[in-house]
Amino acid sequence: MKALVYEGPMTVSVEDVPDARIERPTDVLVKITTTNICGSDLHMYEGRTDMETGRVLGHENMGEVIAVGEAVDRVKVGDMVCMPFNIACGFCENCDKGLTAFCLTANPDPGMAGAAYGFADMGPYNGGQAELLRVPWGDVNCLILPPEARERQTDYVMLSDIFPTGWHATELAHLRPGETVVIFGAGPVGLMAALSATLKSASKIFVVDRHPDRLALAEQIGAIPIDDSKASPIEQIMEQTDGLGADRGCECVGYQAHDPQGHEHPNMTLNNLVKSVRFTGSIGVVGVFVPRDPQSPDPLYKEGEVAFDYGLFWFKGQSIGNGQCNVKAYNRELMHLIQTGKAKPSWIVSHELPLDQAPDGYEHFDRRDDGWTKVVLHPDG
Ligand code: NAD
Ligand code: ZN
Repeated sequence: MKALVYEGPMTVSVEDVPDARIERPTDVLVKITTTNICGSDLHMYEGRTDMETGRVLGHENMGEVIAVGEAVDRVKVGDMVCMPFNIACGFCENCDKGLTAFCLTANPDPGMAGAAYGFADMGPYNGGQAELLRVPWGDVNCLILPPEARERQTDYVMLSDIFPTGWHATELAHLRPGETVVIFGAGPVGLMAALSATLKSASKIFVVDRHPDRLALAEQIGAIPIDDSKASPIEQIMEQTDGLGADRGCECVGYQAHDPQGHEHPNMTLNNLVKSVRFTGSIGVVGVFVPRDPQSPDPLYKEGEVAFDYGLFWFKGQSIGNGQCNVKAYNRELMHLIQTGKAKPSWIVSHELPLDQAPDGYEHFDRRDDGWTKVVLHPDG
């Protein structure tokens, strides 16, 4: 089959690799019709991780079931399915509690919890930027989609990761109707957090970034764009919240945060949030921060230190929640919002490309080139 493989820092290519297949009785085999490039793929692409070469990338996947193992009894051949990016067993202590991002079975590395398709440090699984994907514990890890999903793939595929992840940011921040919220990052995840805030009837939604095209997408759904290359984002938010700060904050950038001049500051968004969220407010962090990894080629990963202004955070009596999104926990509710037309997450899709053009998509998306907000790949042509 054709698949997008990691070749080394800043290099991916479409290669012929052995077909994905049913390996265990609980597996499901999916013919991928739609698969996205995610900001999380860029951690691997940029060579920040110790991702091994030859692995297939891609964790935002959707397609048609073409085979099921003999122990699969819920999912059927012909079903259109979307796969949460977390691979979960469905029966461990964490999965029992709905914490599928921290499955204790799927990641075979000692002391680790949580697994994903095509991801460094998250198990040995190949990704779905390919013609075929093997889905372990298929009855658990396939969300069966309604028939109309075939015609609205760019909406439904967002259930694999970024729509639930944006929603999770607002859940971790305890956002309630009528409250104000500031979201750092207008990438796909930040834009989905903004969409989630509109669905939760936030009164004012501030979205901070410096890319005009991304800020314009935030504005399209009624958020207030805050361009931090023009003036301090904290001052801009204080001015528009009677000097109090926003009630809630969402971090949708991650440790690779940088200033508008391009210098990396891993702690920048966290500290900006502490300053721009009000006393007693709360913050949800879904942007990726990383533990130390002595093997990592990237010094930020290797040292893994984020200086966080804990003193101010404590003084303001704020709270914080963070981590990978338990996608499965939100999937059905968010699917119904898409099905009933209340949510159209495809508004951020800028490019739909055949798999062959994926390396081009990576290059543009990684540079955050103007107009390259979300790249969707179609391995079936
Ligand atoms: P992205 O890189 O396209 O978007 C990040 C945006 O942040 C960019 O538009 C960039 O201009 C902006 N930015 C950079 N520094 C900033 C700063 N100091 N202030 C404000 N904005 C700044 O990526 P994405 O796909 O939107 O993903 C965002 C983060 O979410 C990544 O770290 C990704 O790995 C992570 N993520 C986490 C989960 C999860 O389950 N927790 C799931 C998916 C993605
Ligand atoms: Zn993703």
